[in-house]
Amino acid sequence: MNTVSSLLDKEWYERYKRISRLNIRSSIYDVTNQCNLRCRGCFFFSSDEHKAAPEEMDIRKWEAFVDSEKARGVNLAILIGGEPTLYLDRVAAFYKRLPTYCATNGLIKVPRDRFPDMMVGISLWGDEEDEKVLRGKDTFAISSKNYAGDLYTYYLYTITPKQVGRIESIIRRIADAGLKVHLQLLSNDEGVEGFSWTDELLRDIRDEMDIMLDRYPNTVISSKYYHEIITTGQMLGRSFGWNECPSVTEPMDRRKPQPKRLIRFIRWAADLHTMHRCCTSATRDCSICKDGAAHMSWVMVNKRAHLRSAKDLQGWIEVYEMFAKLYRFIPW
Ligand code: SF4
Ligand code: SF4
Repeated sequence: MNTVSSLLDKEWYERYKRISRLNIRSSIYDVTNQCNLRCRGCFFFSSDEHKAAPEEMDIRKWEAFVDSEKARGVNLAILIGGEPTLYLDRVAAFYKRLPTYCATNGLIKVPRDRFPDMMVGISLWGDEEDEKVLRGKDTFAISSKNYAGDLYTYYLYTITPKQVGRIESIIRRIADAGLKVHLQLLSNDEGVEGFSWTDELLRDIRDEMDIMLDRYPNTVISSKYYHEIITTGQMLGRSFGWNECPSVTEPMDRRKPQPKRLIRFIRWAADLHTMHRCCTSATRDCSICKDGAAHMSWVMVNKRAHLRSAKDLQGWIEVYEMFAKLYRFIPW
């Protein structure tokens, strides 16, 4: 039987040891039901998750809640919404207690005197043209000014089918702003015409993502194995979907047989009691889900299956490293 040490040379084994110590336990929190944008295709609003529960307004309840999450074993708080920067006191309740990542559209700058090393992920949905169609605004023009050169910020670039063949200009602009970028694919939750994937487009974008990683290794935080997984939905001959998804809220997960999954993962609504089904849209058809974090986690929780060969295990290590970099468990 293959073991980790039998498959890896010294250098890869050192890389493996560095990540195997991390033991990341994440959960996701809706900081608010409000947003200063209304993007077409936003999973949160399109699935009415903003109506699932009212917001808790008492900051002391947020603080006590984060303490209880920490006691539950969470060591990475992923803040989403709505737009978390609308409620910085709630963000601070997490940041003071836990390693915290804040997803944002970047229109409001997180004050670095208050949150000096909090990881910030800025959502970006394409170039100026696509952003105006889907989000009503060229957000990059604002967010890149707010965060240029920030050491704890990266762009989460959601590539749309219309971007195929032209993602380089955006990646170059991000590099020029002194920032990093991670790539994922639009799931088109609201069925906007012209924004759905075909097999051919997925093949093309996979090649393009690989080229970008080779061309901008200091800017693109990614791995070719991740590109393969996210564009094909296949891992070691298995298909991504409900039966395999690792990012289902644990107390709501009654799947049988139980797949490998994120331990103790919960996605909480902003009332601090209600739970959502998974890390993304509660109403999304899992067979078309392109959620980047869910695909990354799918690889990460399936280490044993990657002991098939050195190449498979190295792919696993690269995806794990990518995740750890994105949440600053290891340096870029
Ligand atoms: S900025 Fe984010 S939360 Fe707000 S509408 Fe757009 S996708 Fe949704
Ligand atoms: S929508 Fe995506 S993340 Fe949610 S359960 Fe389905 S596959 Fe998993």
